[in-house]
Amino acid sequence: MIECDILVVGGGPAGMAAAVAAYDSGVKDVIILDREPELGGILRQCIHNGFGLHKLGAELTGPEYAAVYKDMVTERGIKVYYETMALDVTNDKIVTATNRNGILNFKAKAVILAMGCRERSRGALNISGSRPAGIYSAGAAQKLMNCEGYSVGKKVVILGSGDIGLIMARRMSLEGAKVEAVCELMSYSGGLTRNIVQCLEDFGIPLYLSTTVAEIHGDKRLEGVTIAQVDENRRVIEETKRYIECDTLLLSVGLIPENELTKMAGIEMSAVTSGALVDENRQTEVDGIFACGNVLQVHDLVDYVSDEAEIAGNAAAKFVNGTLEKGETVNTTAGNGVRYVLPQRVHKTSKEDIALFMRVTEPFGKVRFTVKSGEEVLATAVRLKVAPGEMEKILIKKEKFELINGDIIVSLEEI
Ligand SMILES: Cc1cc2nc3c(=O)[nH]c(=O)nc-3n(C[C@H](O)[C@H](O)[C@H](O)COP(=O)(O)OP(=O)(O)OC[C@H]3O[C@@H](n4cnc5c(N)ncnc54)[C@H](O)[C@@H]3O)c2cc1C
Repeated sequence: MIECDILVVGGGPAGMAAAVAAYDSGVKDVIILDREPELGGILRQCIHNGFGLHKLGAELTGPEYAAVYKDMVTERGIKVYYETMALDVTNDKIVTATNRNGILNFKAKAVILAMGCRERSRGALNISGSRPAGIYSAGAAQKLMNCEGYSVGKKVVILGSGDIGLIMARRMSLEGAKVEAVCELMSYSGGLTRNIVQCLEDFGIPLYLSTTVAEIHGDKRLEGVTIAQVDENRRVIEETKRYIECDTLLLSVGLIPENELTKMAGIEMSAVTSGALVDENRQTEVDGIFACGNVLQVHDLVDYVSDEAEIAGNAAAKFVNGTLEKGETVNTTAGNGVRYVLPQRVHKTSKEDIALFMRVTEPFGKVRFTVKSGEEVLATAVRLKVAPGEMEKILIKKEKFELINGDIIVSLEEI
């Protein structure tokens, strides 16, 4: 049994920032486990720029952003077990893992879960047709191109307009491929506005909203797809079907938080975020187990992943030192126009301002968010434009905590 104060599962941006924050809060005995041979998580394959503007005040590529945190981990002498896959986490904080040396057992005083996401695959979509080569998830194509140096195709259709799909539309164009279309099932894009402008509009790539891939054609290699518009129930409108010749279909149809370990530990989950239910310290319902990054909620910007991980890391250190906030919590809930609010519960005795993160249910123009507890208004915020693809953050100032007299509800109204 390897004993340590804090064990971090996952060495992506969340795991690294959490480990560094825990160390800097005074708990030096921190271990990171990652199944990959290097730290950095998904950032290792994201060679485009746009990372770090908020957090580091510089526009970096994914590997550059990861390198900043990797250096911090190394400088502090935080121990990393590479190519080590965590297989099981128990609620008494025993983590079983495997690597080339066999099975390892860790016993930690606190565990931070930072396992990130995986991509939803074709199997989850039920697209009819054959199963030829040439169909990739956008992230798999990104890894093949950016890390392995392969060109994955020449004529491309992309299904899904989330950020990974948009980034890959630009990447494929830069590599000389022709991106025929980006199809999006919803009536709005799931990606950041900046990515729609920089990755599609700047490259003249058409975005077809309320459109899906209805059929796949080809035997050994993909030869084409049939795309079609969908009605308000997302059913294909037969008469709008149209064939597009292509040799590659990239799927960017959502990320699934990797929460198998979280569930094994018996931690209660949110049906909306598919992550654990947490308080403002990112502590799950099991004392001493924390979660942060994409495993907790799918983030749009890595900068916010690092912020969230620092909260978890600092709190895990306090837990180990016995100084973490305990006591009564109130729940936060999503009201009109808001899909979810995270954290799902907060301590009204917290000594710090509390940031609430949320996503809206659909795109709106100018809106006012109101955070209320009973009839008391704890915070308001006006935004000129909101969309489900962009995470919103509203701060409740600590002076307002004394007004909390029941569940906190966040809603929006158009103004
Ligand atoms: C394919 C893909 C492409 C993306 N592209 C972009 C982009 O271009 N721009 C952007 O801003 N965001 C992008 N994102 C979002 C990005 O994931 C997050 O911003 C950020 O990387 C999340 O950090 P994380 O540490 O939570 O997760 P990750 O970066 O996914 O890191 C999780 C780490 O945990 C490790 N791990 C998981 N399970 C285990 C286990 N059981 N045992 C040991 N180790 C484990 C993994 O190996 C990985 O290193 C992308 C996401 C994906 C999936």
